[in-house]
Amino acid sequence: MAYLEINNVVKRYDEHVALNGVSMHVEQGTIYGLLGPNGAGKSTLIRIINRILAADKGTVTLNGKQMTDDDITHIGYLPEERGLYKKMKVGDHIVYLGRLKGMTKADAIASMHWWLDRFDLKKWENKKVENLSKGMQQKVQFIGTVIHRPPLLIFDEPFSGFDPVNAEQLKVEILALRDQGSTILFSTHNMASVEEVCQQITLLNHAQVVLSGSVDEVKQQHKKNIIAVQTPDKIEPNPELFSILPPDPMKKQDTLIKLDPGVQVRDAINWLNEHYRLTGFTEVLPSMNEIFIETVKFKNTENNG
Ligand code: ADP
Repeated sequence: MAYLEINNVVKRYDEHVALNGVSMHVEQGTIYGLLGPNGAGKSTLIRIINRILAADKGTVTLNGKQMTDDDITHIGYLPEERGLYKKMKVGDHIVYLGRLKGMTKADAIASMHWWLDRFDLKKWENKKVENLSKGMQQKVQFIGTVIHRPPLLIFDEPFSGFDPVNAEQLKVEILALRDQGSTILFSTHNMASVEEVCQQITLLNHAQVVLSGSVDEVKQQHKKNIIAVQTPDKIEPNPELFSILPPDPMKKQDTLIKLDPGVQVRDAINWLNEHYRLTGFTEVLPSMNEIFIETVKFKNTENNG
């Protein structure tokens, strides 16, 4: 049993089907990427998990039990549209958010101090939110999302608006929360961040799941049988085994060979070893970005005729 189970969820807005039988199982202590182009249904699904919307059909279970409104306290949700009360003091605001999630005042204050220290924001505790830079406000909102240590965290585009240094700091905190057992659902268009933090993904397109699995599995399924070969020699194409592709501009020293259908990596490498001086080779796996574009484009072409 997975910690969060979404089974066959259907959601319509009038005539428009926003989710058409979506299922997704998120294991405890993992980071799960919810991906998809605009309009795919991600926000609708997140709102259903958050109990802002009700599904027309299907079930959502948390830790084996059908979710109820009481489960809201078990969730920390960082929405894409950020919003804090600008006139409130930073410390008071964080405590207020913790209290909303059922923390005692003493716990909320202790936790607020711990997190402000962690993010180097201690001296801002008594300043108004409006005096903070955008990046600092984002951190305050992040703290407000995780302060009650919810077992389920939902982050919608958590890195947007962060510079690379702050994004790295946030990533470290997200990984630490996972390592402490939090289950994290992560919605983003930033495929590089998916590769860095997610173990599993589901790709939604037109209200349906079009791809799901571990990041490694998905990459293996989409590989194009390309090998990057390191050699001082100039490799010629072999009509029975492989063709030669133009070099990757970022790795010009590698020769890219594409195996013919049915050719095993081992056979091609053995042959190359006998005929050239190989110093190394690696199988080239597609990036999540390439997989996303390929899957969504293919499906959209299919749907349009
Ligand atoms: P995503 O978050 O993946 O961009 P959404 O869940 O926001 O997708 O939207 C899925 C589809 O449902 C879109 O076609 C959107 O236009 C439609 N939709 C979203 N909210 C509403 C609403 N309140 N009323 C009608 N249609 C909606």
